[in-house]
Amino acid sequence: MPDTLRIALPNKGRLEQPAADLLKQAGFYFERTPRSLAVPIRDAPIELLFIRAKDVVELVADGVADLGVTGIDLTREADSPVNTISELGFGRCRLVAAVPDGSPISDIEGFQGLRIATSHPRTVERFFDDKAIAVTTVPLNGSVEVAPKLGIADAVADLVSSGSTMLINGLRPVATLLESQAILIERIGASRTDTATRVIAMLDAAMAAKNRRYVVMNAPRSAVAEIEEIIPGIEAPTIVPLTHDGMVAIHSVVESSDVWHVLPRLKEAGASGILVLPVQQVIA
Ligand code: AMP
Repeated sequence: MPDTLRIALPNKGRLEQPAADLLKQAGFYFERTPRSLAVPIRDAPIELLFIRAKDVVELVADGVADLGVTGIDLTREADSPVNTISELGFGRCRLVAAVPDGSPISDIEGFQGLRIATSHPRTVERFFDDKAIAVTTVPLNGSVEVAPKLGIADAVADLVSSGSTMLINGLRPVATLLESQAILIERIGASRTDTATRVIAMLDAAMAAKNRRYVVMNAPRSAVAEIEEIIPGIEAPTIVPLTHDGMVAIHSVVESSDVWHVLPRLKEAGASGILVLPVQQVIA
């Protein structure tokens, strides 16, 4: 199938579920069994390849997959560079350099001469090289946080989201070396097909929708101006007359993070019967 667009997605780990959810929200229907590697999307010339998040980068760089979802951190560690199309807003984490609780080290200069256990040796080496601080990396694929206890490293550089795992393991964060999140990638210099362009637009629409809510309410016509100021919507709210004289229904789109602040103000302005609904896609 030469015209089939291939999208490489993580088959396990933290990026797996949110990546699949984003595709579904974008309107792509697929059924994946736990062992399936290649899964067709129904009604579109698209095939999903489920592989390790790490391998997504190489498959896209080699042109085996046209698009891929992976972490910024993994693109920095990969052999081949790729082009970032968009940030996807999930899988947010930081690569943090940390020392054992009792250590006197309080800044990055204190890492001079230390052995640093990490699953991201290239990123760590690049960070310290740039600052002319000589360190030795101890590459590990997992359980990085136990390396100082085992005596094989003096410090660690590990991915954290909240940072609580580090604290539990007796480690004190000193500096953030890299901020990461999931991204959509393509091969450098790739010529985008129509299908690829449409997929990218649909993923953008799904991402835009994730952060929005559709708000519907009734209000006296006299309150419309005040309510419009509170929830201006994408262009302007939709106003629909109701059979009760002087009453209207108002529809608008609100940033999810604003809903909490906006609801009491709408009530004060005279709105009633307020519904807050999810949005599937926003196409600008
Ligand atoms: P894993 O779930 O360990 O296979 O990690 C896959 C990718 O998830 C990492 O390379 C990061 O891009 C991302 N990630 C997001 N949050 C975290 C976290 N707290 N720890 C590790 N990886 C994370």
